[in-house]
Amino acid sequence: MTPSPLALPVQFVKGIGPRKAAALQKIGIRDVLDLLFYVPRRYLDRSVILPVAALRAEAGRGAWQAGGDRAEGETRRDVTVVGEVRSCKVLGIGRKARFVLVLADETGSMQCVWFGGVAYWKKAFRPGEVLAVSGQPTFFGGIMQFVHPEFDRLSSTGEEGEIEWTKRLHTGGLVPLYPSSQDLSSVGLDSRGFRRSLHAALDATLTMIPETLPEYLRERRRLRGLHEAIRAVHFPDSMEGLEAGLARLKYEELFHFQLKLALKRHSLREEQGISYDVRSRLARHLVDALPFSLTRAQVRVVKEISADMAAPTPMNRLLQGDVGSGKTVVALIAMLVAVDNGYQAAFMAPTEILAEQHFKTLSTLLHALPVTIRLLVGAQRSRLRQDILEDARSGAAQIVVGTHALFEKQVAFHRLGLVIIDEQHRFGVRQRALVRGKGINPDVLVMTATPIPRTLSLTLYGDLEVSLLDELPANRRPVRTVLKEDVEEIYRFVREKVREGRQAYFVYPLIEESEKVDLKAATIHYEELQRRVFPDLRLGLIHGRLPGEEKDRVMEAFQRRELDILVATTVIEVGIDVPNASVMVIENAERFGLSQLHQLRGRVGRGSDQSTCILLARKWVARRVGRGEAVAMLSGDEERLAERRLAAMLSTSDGFKIAEYDLELRGPGDFFGTRQSGIPEFRVADILKDGVLLDEARQDAFGVVERDPHLADPAHGILSEHLRSRFREDIALLRTG
Ligand code: ADP
Ligand code: MG
Repeated sequence: MTPSPLALPVQFVKGIGPRKAAALQKIGIRDVLDLLFYVPRRYLDRSVILPVAALRAEAGRGAWQAGGDRAEGETRRDVTVVGEVRSCKVLGIGRKARFVLVLADETGSMQCVWFGGVAYWKKAFRPGEVLAVSGQPTFFGGIMQFVHPEFDRLSSTGEEGEIEWTKRLHTGGLVPLYPSSQDLSSVGLDSRGFRRSLHAALDATLTMIPETLPEYLRERRRLRGLHEAIRAVHFPDSMEGLEAGLARLKYEELFHFQLKLALKRHSLREEQGISYDVRSRLARHLVDALPFSLTRAQVRVVKEISADMAAPTPMNRLLQGDVGSGKTVVALIAMLVAVDNGYQAAFMAPTEILAEQHFKTLSTLLHALPVTIRLLVGAQRSRLRQDILEDARSGAAQIVVGTHALFEKQVAFHRLGLVIIDEQHRFGVRQRALVRGKGINPDVLVMTATPIPRTLSLTLYGDLEVSLLDELPANRRPVRTVLKEDVEEIYRFVREKVREGRQAYFVYPLIEESEKVDLKAATIHYEELQRRVFPDLRLGLIHGRLPGEEKDRVMEAFQRRELDILVATTVIEVGIDVPNASVMVIENAERFGLSQLHQLRGRVGRGSDQSTCILLARKWVARRVGRGEAVAMLSGDEERLAERRLAAMLSTSDGFKIAEYDLELRGPGDFFGTRQSGIPEFRVADILKDGVLLDEARQDAFGVVERDPHLADPAHGILSEHLRSRFREDIALLRTG
C-alpha cells in the first residue's frame, strides 16, 4: 500500500519548504492532514463587492472605519473592488515614500496605497492587470483610498473582460484568518501565506482524502462529505456552506473520540472482574454506628456502586461530589464490601498530608470493626515500610491507604479487589491505567470534588459510569464569602472569632515557578502575624516542604485545638477536615485559580457554625469587583481574569457553576492546572460550546459499538480503517474476542 498523501510531511507541499515546515511543526502541524484540519477561528467578510462609484457612501459609514482586530469570533466586514491597474508610482521620498496604485472600473477610479516597502510593491504590479482588492475605504484629500488592502490577482478571460474568480484567496468572499505569531510570519506564514499553502495542499490532495464517516451516519445527521467540508472551511463560498463544513468537522472529531471511548469501555466489559456478594455485615455495622444518617444522595450512590460490585465485570465508576458532600463514607462502605468478600482495598490520595488525613479519618470510623488498615507513603522509615509491604503482600492489611506510592513496582497485594482514587484530577488520567496493571482486575472507583461540567466529563471520563453526590448533609450552613482589602479589619474579625473559640486559616499562594520565594513569603507572613499581629495567640505554619512528621505534628495540634491559627500554603487545599475552623483568609486571592479558591473555601463550613471565607486582594482589584465592573469585562488579560474569578467566588458557592466559570476562563486544556492532565485537545470542536454535537456524536459512537463491537460490519470498515491509520496505538481496542 502506498502511503496516504495525507500523511505526507507538510514540507513537501508546494510553497512550503523546510523553514516553514519547522515553524508549522511548532504549532502541531506535521503532515498534510494536520494542515487541512487547522481550521481558522475567524473570518473576514469580504463578500460585498462594490463598484468604485459606490465606495463614497461606504467610506461615510463610521462603523466601518474602526478597523483593527476585534473580539475573537467576530466577523469584520470589508468591501471588495474589482478593477484594472491603471498606473503604479512611488510618491514622496525617504520615510514619506509611498506606493500608489490606481485601480479603475467602469464607474470610476480609486487609489491603493502602501507605506513602506515601496521597492517591492513597485515590482509587484503592472498596468493592465486585473485585481480584486479588499479593505476599508477612506476618503483622503478628495480621493477614495484603500490603505494596505488585501488583494488577489485575477485573470480576465473572454470578450467582455469576464472575471475568473477561481484564484480568489484573499478577497471577494469570506476570507479565513489563521492565528499568527512572530515565528510564523517571519517565514511568510501570515494569514496570506497560510491561505496560499492551504490552497496548494488542497489542490494536491483533496480528491484523495478518504471519507471517514459511514454514509448512514452522515445521512442521519445531515453532514457534508469530508472533502466538501474541508474546502468550505478554508475557502467558504457562503456562510451556510461554512457553517455546515465546520459542523461536519466538529462532529467528525467528537465522533472518533467517543468511538475510542466506547471501544475502550466495551473491551473492559469483556474482561473478567470480581462478582461480590454485596450484603456486607461490616458495612451494615458501620452505617449503624455512624453519628448521622446517610443523605439520600449517599444512599443512592451506594446502591449504584453495589450494583457494579455485584456484576461480574470490573467496576469503572466516577463519583462526583462537591467538597463536604461525604464521599469518604461512601468509599468506606465499598471497601468494607470488598473486605467482607476476602479482598483487599487500596485508597489512593494525591498528597501525603491527605493520605495521612484519610488514614486517620478511616481508622476512626473503623475503630469498632475488626478491620486492619495501614498507611503507605513515601516518607516512611524503611523498617516500618517493610512491615507494611509485608502486610499488603500477605493480605494482613485489608485496607491500605497511601499516595501513588501504592502502585510502585515493589508493592504487591495478596488479593487486591478494589481501588479508590481520591481527587482524581490531580493525578492525571493516566493513573487509572496504572491501577489496571496489578494482576487481577480490581473494581475502580474514582472520586473527585471538582465538579466537572458535563461536556468535559463526557470527554475526560467518557468511558466511566458516573455517580453524583448532589446533596450536602443537612447540618451545613453556606459559607459567607467577602472580598476585602483592609487587613486590619480582618485581623480584628479573626481575633473576635478566636475569642469565641473558633479557629482560622491564613493561606498564601504558592506558585510553582518561584516555589522558594513564595515559601519564604509564607514563612515571613507567619512570623509577622505571630510577632506583630497575634502575639497572644497560638499560630502554626504548614507547607509542602515540611518533613512528614513535622506536618503531622502541626496538623494534629490544629485538630486538637492547640493552635488558633494555621498559616499555610495551598497544601491544605484538598480534604483537610477540621469542623471547628470557621474562618478562611486567602491572601493575594487574585493569584489563585478559581477551583483552587473553591477548594480552599470548602475547608470551612464543615461544622454547624456560620463560617466566613475572606478573599484579600490588592486594592484596585477589590474596588473594581466591588463595584460590579468585573462581570462585564471582556478582555483576556491576567488582571481582568483575576477580577472575574473573584467576582465568580462572590456570586456563587455552587461547585458546578464555579467549574463552568473556570472552564470558560481557562479553557479546557488548562482546566486542571496542567497541560498533561490528559484532556484531549480538539482541533475544531470546542468542548464548551459544542454540547449538542457532542451528544449526537456520543450517541452515534456508542450505538455503533453496541451493535458492532469489533467494527466488523462492512459499513464500519472506514471506521476501523481510520482508527488504524490515524490512531495506531488503539488497534488493540479492535482485537476480537
Ligand atoms: P468530601 O466529599 O469532601 O470528601 P467528607 O467525606 O470529608 O466529604 O465529609 C465531610 C464531613 O461530613 C465529614 O466530617 C463527614 O464525617 C461528614 N458527613 C458525611 N456524611 C454525612 C451525613 N450524611 N450527615 C452528616 N455529616 C456527614
Ligand atoms: Mg474528601
